[in-house]
Amino acid sequence: MTIQHAAELLSSAKRGLALTGAGISAESGIPTFRGEGGLWTKYDPVKVASINYFMADPAAYWKVSKERGSLALAAKPNPAHDALARLESAGHLSAVATQNTDGLHQDSGSKRVIELHGSGRMVQCLDCGHREPRAAVQRRLDVEMPPRCPMCGGTFLKPTVVLFGEAMPRTELEEAERRARACDLFVVVGSSLVVYPAAYMPLHAKDAGATLAIVNLTETPHDGQADLLVRGSAAGVLASVVDRLQPRPVAR
Ligand code: NAD
Ligand code: ZN
Repeated sequence: MTIQHAAELLSSAKRGLALTGAGISAESGIPTFRGEGGLWTKYDPVKVASINYFMADPAAYWKVSKERGSLALAAKPNPAHDALARLESAGHLSAVATQNTDGLHQDSGSKRVIELHGSGRMVQCLDCGHREPRAAVQRRLDVEMPPRCPMCGGTFLKPTVVLFGEAMPRTELEEAERRARACDLFVVVGSSLVVYPAAYMPLHAKDAGATLAIVNLTETPHDGQADLLVRGSAAGVLASVVDRLQPRPVAR
């Protein structure tokens, strides 16, 4: 019943916006931060993911990042990413705003991806600005800890992700907010909705009159605002939704 309702909402949307979080990539083998099996049951988040910690001890940061990076670089999109790409190409979604840094939306064919927390696929030297793919740095980690910049020899090579204590990219944030206020359907997939300002987006959309749907395994603080709540796995739910999409009427 809820899947059918979700399919109806999505097939009638003309400028929907999706907001995704770590939960959408869980079924691709990348652990979430919060929730069962989440990374933060293993590490202290403020330590491993803050800019101060990185600046104080890049090697300690990279030791944790090495493990995550090998999972993220090997990961493939799952049916939930594929479903969002299909919804975009069918004209129901205008974009995907994501808190993820894994690049899996782009891999599955989504064209308009707004990366609110940056990308883990690139690394930048904070001393000289040199950029190189994360995959290249990942290969050096067994013999070089922390990794060194090949241009200047510095030890502050940082993935182009937004760490705690860093500002979010302004252009991306503004674009996501603008699209949230203009969308007809806002769909959250796999996010605990506790990290701000991303978690404000569904509220902006609701205030501007959009329908709000939330697909997540566990409850979120904004469930009370949702017009449709689907508690289930992102891949299972979204694959069933696209299976039921109504074909668009043929223009005469
Ligand atoms: P989060 O870890 O706080 O929450 C993930 C949510 O997804 C939880 O509520 C959980 O119940 C739900 N979930 C888990 N598996 C699911 C599944 N199979 N289907 C549907 N829902 C599922 O993640 P968040 O809300 O994205 O926010 C935390 C931060 O984590 C962000 O800043 C993001 O940058 C970062 N992060 C990114 C990645 C990634 O790039 N893949 C992975 C972990 C964390
Ligand atoms: Zn450098």
